[in-house]
Amino acid sequence: MLGIADDRALGGSVRVIVTRPADLVRAKAAVDEVLRAIDIAASRFREDSELTRLNGMAGQEVLVSPLLAQAVAAALRGARLSGGAVDPTIGSAVKLAGYDADFDSVPVDGAELKLTATTVPGWQSVQFGEASRMVRIPTGVELDLGATAKALASDLAAAAAIKVCGGGGVLVSLGGDIAVAGEAPAEGWLIQTSEDSSAAIAEGEETISVRTGGIATSSTTVRRWTRGGAVLHHIIDPATGLPVDSCWRTASVIAATCVDANIASTAAIVMGGKAESWLAANRLPGRLVDRDGHVQRVAGWPPPVANSDRVPNTL
Ligand code: AMP
Ligand code: MG
Repeated sequence: MLGIADDRALGGSVRVIVTRPADLVRAKAAVDEVLRAIDIAASRFREDSELTRLNGMAGQEVLVSPLLAQAVAAALRGARLSGGAVDPTIGSAVKLAGYDADFDSVPVDGAELKLTATTVPGWQSVQFGEASRMVRIPTGVELDLGATAKALASDLAAAAAIKVCGGGGVLVSLGGDIAVAGEAPAEGWLIQTSEDSSAAIAEGEETISVRTGGIATSSTTVRRWTRGGAVLHHIIDPATGLPVDSCWRTASVIAATCVDANIASTAAIVMGGKAESWLAANRLPGRLVDRDGHVQRVAGWPPPVANSDRVPNTL
C-alpha cells in the first residue's frame, strides 16, 4: 500500500507518494516547504520573487540566496550540457511569444503577434560565481529558470521528504517532473508515459518502472496558445527566439536527477533531428514522440511493464 497526496503548486500539479503511508503527512510537509522556497526564489510570475528582483537589476552584480544560486547553477549547467539548446536567457523571448503570466492566465486565443526571429542573448552573457553567489545579467536580459527550477524542486523535495521519513521510499511529481529517493517499491516506481501529465491512468497505456533518479517530459502539445490563428507554445529555440519548430512534439528522459532529465527533455525538443544521437552519446534513455504520434525509444528506454490499477503516476 502506497500513501498518496495530491495538491497544486508552481502553476501545476503536485503528487507525493510514500511507500510507508504513516510517513505521508510528514513527507508532504517537507515537500511543501521546498516548493514554497523555490517559488519565492525562482518564479518569474511573482512580483515578490527573488528572480523578479534579479531580473530588475540587470547590469548590476547581485548577491543571490543559496537556493536561487542553486537554480541559476542548474540552468547554466543545462546550457553547457546541451550546447545552448537549453538557455535561461530566453526570458524575454517567451514573454514576447505570449507566455507572460502564470499559464492559467495566458489567454488561449488572441490577436496576431508580430514576432521576428532574433537569437537570444545567450547563457554565456550571464556572469555567475557559484562560490560567491554573485550574479550579473546584462542589461536587457531576463532569466527564465522554467526548464530547470521545477525539476530542481522535485529533486530537493524528494531528498527533504526522505529525510523526514523513517525509511522506505518517496516519489515527488511536479506536473510530471519526477524525482524518487530512498527504497523503491518491490515492482519499482510504476509510471505511465503520457504526453500530458494530467492524463488519466488507463489500461493499455505504456508503463515503465524506475527505481532511482529522475524522469521528465517536455511537450509542445500541452502549453500552447493561438495568436491570430498561429499556434504558439512554450519551448523557445534560442537560435531564433521563437517557439521551436521541432520534429518532436514530446520528449521524456530518464537521468540520475530530475534536473538532468529536464535539461535533456527540453534540449531534445529544441535539438529536433539531432536529439537521438545526443541522448545516445550522453547515455540518457529517451522516449520521443514525433508530430504524428510515432514513438522512438533511444539509449535504453526501459521496456514496458504490465499496466495495472497499481500504477500511481503519470509522466
Ligand atoms: P520544460 O517544460 O521542462 O521543457 O520547460 C519549458 C519551460 O522552460 C518553458 O515554459 C519556459 O519557461 C522555459 N523554456 C522554454 N524554452 C527554453 C529553452 N530553450 N531553454 C531554457 N528554458 C526554456
Ligand atoms: Mg519539464
